Amino acid sequence: MKVRKNIALVAHDNRKRDLIEWIEWNVTVLLKHRLTCTGTTGNLVEKAIRDKLAKMNISHDISIRKLRSGPLGGDQQLGSLITEGKIDFVIFFWDPMQPHPHDVDVKALLRIAVLYNIPIACNRSTADFMISSPLMDEEYTPILKDYEEYLRRDLP
Ligand code: PGA
Repeated sequence: MKVRKNIALVAHDNRKRDLIEWIEWNVTVLLKHRLTCTGTTGNLVEKAIRDKLAKMNISHDISIRKLRSGPLGGDQQLGSLITEGKIDFVIFFWDPMQPHPHDVDVKALLRIAVLYNIPIACNRSTADFMISSPLMDEEYTPILKDYEEYLRRDLP
């Protein structure tokens, strides 16, 4: 991954406030990177960044890629982007207190992030540690396990 990272931001409804506060704290760092969000999160993130920049008297273009809303396939779109190497880093504030209609998609997204060795923060502390890591300003290549043997396995 390059110095300018492709960062995905997703929050379940009960965690959206947390994510927005985190965005407000980290807005100047986030502007250096490209942001991708699930639909509803994306609208809120865009507004939060705009409002924060206005308060700071900074004029800056914001362009956020918005996928479908999570329950309508947005988590799956994000998983697919990870497999294509188009996402470097995920902030995913999922709700540990409520079941969701797309729980299987949430599990699939977490699995694919682990499989592709993508940094993924599921709470604010982890997100704080990740965004303040020296690796944020460097190129970094996640080590991927070699699945060649698995792909060439003998099948009956
Ligand atoms: P949303 O989706 O940003 O469209 O609310 C998030 C999710 O539920 O995964």
